[in-house]
Amino acid sequence: RAKADGKATFRFFEAGMNEVLEQRRRLEQRLRAALAGEGMGLAYQPLVDCNARDVIGFEVLARWVDAELGPVAPLEFIPVAEESGLIVRLGDYVLKKACREAATWPSHLKVAVNLSAVQFRRDGLVQSVREALSESGLPGHRLELEITENILIENRDYVLKVLTELKSLGVTISMDDFGTGYSSLSYLKSFPFDKIKIDREFVSELDTENGHTSIVRAITSMGKSLQMRVVAEGVETRSQAEILRELDCDELQGFLIARPMPPEEVASFLERSCDDAEGGVYGPRGGP
Ligand code: C2E
Ligand code: MG
Ligand code: MG
Ligand code: MG
Repeated sequence: RAKADGKATFRFFEAGMNEVLEQRRRLEQRLRAALAGEGMGLAYQPLVDCNARDVIGFEVLARWVDAELGPVAPLEFIPVAEESGLIVRLGDYVLKKACREAATWPSHLKVAVNLSAVQFRRDGLVQSVREALSESGLPGHRLELEITENILIENRDYVLKVLTELKSLGVTISMDDFGTGYSSLSYLKSFPFDKIKIDREFVSELDTENGHTSIVRAITSMGKSLQMRVVAEGVETRSQAEILRELDCDELQGFLIARPMPPEEVASFLERSCDDAEGGVYGPRGGP
C-alpha cells in the first residue's frame, strides 16, 4: 500500500512538474516574441534628493503586457529571461531605449538601469554600454548602473575589471537591494560603488515597532565612511521619509514620491514637482 501511495504521489508530482515546465516554456516563448517585436515597455520611477527634495533622476523598470498572458511582473519574467539567456537582449534593449529617452530630459537628470548578473558574465557588456551612450548622446555621468550583490560571487578580479571599465565611461555604479544578499562589508569596500540602495525590506519596517532603525543607521554610516551615496528604496510613508532623513540618507525612492510611470508621463511629473514650490515632491519642508 505504502508503495502504491508512493507511486501515486510521484505521478502527481510529475504531472505538477510538467505543468510548471510547460508554463515556463510558454513564458519563454512569449518573451522571445515580445523582444523580437515591440512588446517590451518601460516605466520610470523618480529618485529624489532627501535634503533639496528635488528629482535627481529616474530608475527604468521593464514592463511587459503580453497579448495572451496579460501583464507579467518582472519578478516572474526576469528569472526566465536570465535562465534562457534572453536577459542579454532584454537588458540591451532597456539600456539603449532608456538612454535615448533620458537624452531628451533636462540635462541635470540621470537614468538608472538594472543589470543582471548574467549580463555581467557575458563579454560585450562594456561595449554595449559604450554604444548606448554614443548612439543616444547621453553623457556617461547621466547613466547609473544598478547591480545586485550576487555578481560579487563571481570571479573577483573579473568583476573589478568590468566595473573599472564601466566607470572609465563616466557612469556611476549602484549596489541595489543592499542587505538582502550575503556580501560582506569588506567586499563592498573593495569594489568601486558610488551608491548603495537599501532594500525595501528594511525601509518598510522603519516606522513599525520592530523597526530596522539600527540596521539602516549602520548601512548609512558605513556608506558615508566609504564615500558612497545612500538611497532608500520602497519608501511608502511620510514617517519613513522623515526617519530616513534623520538617519542621513541621501536619496529616496518609493510609492510615497511616485509609482513607476510610463515614459510619456515623465515630463508632466517633472512640471508638477517644480510647481510644488511648497517643498518638493513629497510635501512641505519641516513637517512630517
Ligand atoms: P528593483 O531594481 O529593486 O526595483 C524596485 C522594485 O520595487 C520595482 O518593482 C518597483 O516597482 C518596486 N517599488 C518601488 N517603490 C516601491 C514602494 O514604495 N513599495 C513597493 N511595495 N514596491 C516599490 P518591479 O518593477 O516589479 O521590479 C522588480 C525587480 O525586477 C527590480 O527590483 C529588478 O531587480 C528587476 N527588474 C525590473 N526591470 C529590470 C530590467 O530592465 N533589467 C533587470 N536586470 N532587472 C529588472
Ligand atoms: Mg533597481
Ligand atoms: Mg532595488
Ligand atoms: Mg528591490
